Amino acid sequence: MDKTARMKELNALLEKAASAYYNTGEEIMSDHEYDALYDELERLEKETGIVLSGSRTQKVGFEVASSLKKVRHESKMLSLDKTKSIDELAAWLSTNKGFLSWKLDGLTLVLTYENGSLVQAVTRGNGEDGEDITSNAVHMKGIPSRIPFAGKLVVRGESLITYKDFEKVNAVADEGAKYKNPRNLCAGTVRNLDPKVTAERGVNFFAFNLVSADGLNDNSFSSRLKWLSTMGFQTVYGVVTDADGIRDEVLRFEGMIEQNEFPSDGLVLMLEDVAYGLSLGETSHAPRNGIAFKWRDETADTKLIRVEWSASRTGLLNPVAVFEPVELEGTTVSRASVHNVSIVRQLKLGEGDTVTVYKANMIIPQILENKTGSDSLDIPEVCPVCGGRTEIKSTDGTDTLICTNAECAAKHIGKFEHFVQRDAMNIVGMSTATIETLVSEGCISHYRDFYHLADHKEKITSLEGFGEKSYAKLIEAIETSRRTELSRVLYAVGIPNIGRAASRIICALYKTPGELPRLTAEELTAIDGIGEVLASEYVRCFSDEAFLKEYNDLVAELDIIQAAEVDMASGIAGKTFVITGSVTIWKNRSELKSFIEQNGGKVASSVTSKTDYLINNDSASNSTKNKTAKSLGVSIITEEEFKALLEA
Ligand SMILES: [Zn+2]
Repeated sequence: MDKTARMKELNALLEKAASAYYNTGEEIMSDHEYDALYDELERLEKETGIVLSGSRTQKVGFEVASSLKKVRHESKMLSLDKTKSIDELAAWLSTNKGFLSWKLDGLTLVLTYENGSLVQAVTRGNGEDGEDITSNAVHMKGIPSRIPFAGKLVVRGESLITYKDFEKVNAVADEGAKYKNPRNLCAGTVRNLDPKVTAERGVNFFAFNLVSADGLNDNSFSSRLKWLSTMGFQTVYGVVTDADGIRDEVLRFEGMIEQNEFPSDGLVLMLEDVAYGLSLGETSHAPRNGIAFKWRDETADTKLIRVEWSASRTGLLNPVAVFEPVELEGTTVSRASVHNVSIVRQLKLGEGDTVTVYKANMIIPQILENKTGSDSLDIPEVCPVCGGRTEIKSTDGTDTLICTNAECAAKHIGKFEHFVQRDAMNIVGMSTATIETLVSEGCISHYRDFYHLADHKEKITSLEGFGEKSYAKLIEAIETSRRTELSRVLYAVGIPNIGRAASRIICALYKTPGELPRLTAEELTAIDGIGEVLASEYVRCFSDEAFLKEYNDLVAELDIIQAAEVDMASGIAGKTFVITGSVTIWKNRSELKSFIEQNGGKVASSVTSKTDYLINNDSASNSTKNKTAKSLGVSIITEEEFKALLEA
């Protein structure tokens, strides 16, 4: 490939990664990979003397994509050049003094005050245009809403969320809605349209640069920050140092990382002499008055033992490198995701190769390079989970491995997800990621296997992310789930159309596990609320030998208890309800729904001719449901009237 073509390709890759990262917080490549591509691009530009239009090396940031108001920055916000070498920091300082501080890892903001009040807070955005988040900024800790200084003041700083608050938010977030790291959460919070969210999540602001303050006569970077703290701002921690002292200071900061409440991704060194720093101007892409320092990732060489292909819910088989255990950043690592077939090939992996591994952002193990590059690894032709034939699929230039067997356990991950959920077997803490791992490792291919995980204790506890403690917790949750109601089991085995309500109704009449497989379509349709479609799916499933075996094997593991009796004698048994609007007697609609089901009724989501009652406290409402009910002659009742029905 000629150099210009390669530059074009590099630009496209960097652009894609950068916009994914800044717009959605998604990291499609590691910092390492990003930096390597960036460096290659910069080198090619120097070599050829060509800088393509829109080159990433000339850009400072990324497009803003949201509905917040765009604001142009008064002066372009460029990123600092960065280095990983302490010697370079010293050389850069030369005979000058510098202010060394944390490089905080959140969302950068520019605040403007006039007449002592905050008039505007704007995100950095792409460096040229940011977003107006003033209504959120007033709720951040460390931002004074009034200051004693009356002139115009512009200050830059970082909005941040502590690791602790990050954990708190994630602990209650739904699976799938969890934030990847505190920076993602901070970006999502600061750019949220609802200021209440900012206030609740405890966003902090640390000023790191006083850009301007009308009439302030102070030329020292550090004392300008001190002055900001007298104005009520929280300011970034830092020290004044020189070329001789910089090494010790960097090491001292490094020693403090672990105790930091707030995430940081390196250090920033700014010239103490503000006027001198500004007089140096800027390069095409970075100011000359400061430089960023990134910690050099700790790397280790080790031997690649094998590559495992791990199943995911999407049916993809993802390569995971297993290598001889090495110590990295204080923990032992032995596995790293290789993401896809393309990367396996790029790295020229082969068993026995010497690979260099590191932890991206000090957390996620990755392969940096392959020193041997034997390129001898065979991409498996059969699926490691089921033995079915595999296929390589190519999308957007990336090759991935898939299993072609429709019956592959890997493809049943969705089924298992349903099985463990709260309304079904209620195995607490069994996340999709855990299921994926257990399926890939061959620990789960049938329902009963969940109850035999202890047979795989050694294997499971050796997996990345599974300590003895999380293993014990998982087993405890599984043991707890053994004691369960039959209707949950019937729902868990996933017969099409048999929801929670239908399984309750069936199990209210047929109370032992042995009865269920023998039910005929006639017996089923005789039950109020079970129609022909449902009945035929039910019979079809249980007449399937494999399904029946799965069911019997599962039941053998369980301790079935009798459900709280469904009261078929109540006045609502067999009736179909639709609930709309807010409820006042029951805590919420879902509680009312459970109550109805417990009493033998059914709850549907939309009004049809089969609906018996629409429960709506506002009978005059003009909602679609009300209109439909009226046109179909369905009775509209209030919660009070519903209660009266019970006694009927
Ligand atoms: Zn398979």
